[in-house]
Amino acid sequence: MCNDHSSDMTRRGLLGFGAAAASTAFAGGFALPGQAFADEAPAAPNDIDPDKALTRLLDGNARYVANTSTNTDFSAGRLARAGVQYPFAGLLSCADSRVAPELVFDQGPGDLFVLRVAGNFVDMNGLASIEFGVAVLGIPLLVVLGHTNCGAISATIDVIENGTELPGHLPDLVGALKPGVERALAEKPANPLEASTRENVLYNVEKLKAATPIVSEAVAEGRVKVVGAVYDIATGKVEFL
Ligand SMILES: [Zn+2]
Repeated sequence: MCNDHSSDMTRRGLLGFGAAAASTAFAGGFALPGQAFADEAPAAPNDIDPDKALTRLLDGNARYVANTSTNTDFSAGRLARAGVQYPFAGLLSCADSRVAPELVFDQGPGDLFVLRVAGNFVDMNGLASIEFGVAVLGIPLLVVLGHTNCGAISATIDVIENGTELPGHLPDLVGALKPGVERALAEKPANPLEASTRENVLYNVEKLKAATPIVSEAVAEGRVKVVGAVYDIATGKVEFL
């Protein structure tokens, strides 16, 4: 199934908590080009090229923008999904209530593996979830999705520029967003919020691509693509960076 022993062991370890979904995705999601399976297992539905997955998202967003969404029957396939999942894209999105990935990309239950945290940044727990998505579920595309008018990004700019002190655990969140925001502010952009939102997305795309061992290896092998995007709340349109 896989020529690389160490990564095979990693996947086997992850299979422990992957249940039925894992074994199916494992059979279908990790074929090397030209390799045939001994048991002739059919490819998993999400065993698709990363670019094809990206096209699905683009097409879905176009439908959403045009208000012609097709995913409206949520009971269809409910039983079939009970024991297995085949998400074709992993989304790292903001917790903002106005950003709902399944709606924005017109996808149904089981299509998207979504992590949401204010400011859409990668931390260790988020990375572990993404690694599970890649190694066990066989997700071919990862998207870091920022959005316009992000309060977390605004707060981070405010802390950096005005020394504002935030309560509770918010300083931790701001600390996670600082690298991307500081990089944007260093360029003295005309629109600091817009520039910081983009840089934060790009910073986290880089971080994900370099995340050893699982994601970086999948990216190097071309099994997974990591892209950044910004969702415009006012228009509904997603711009891929
Ligand atoms: Zn936000």
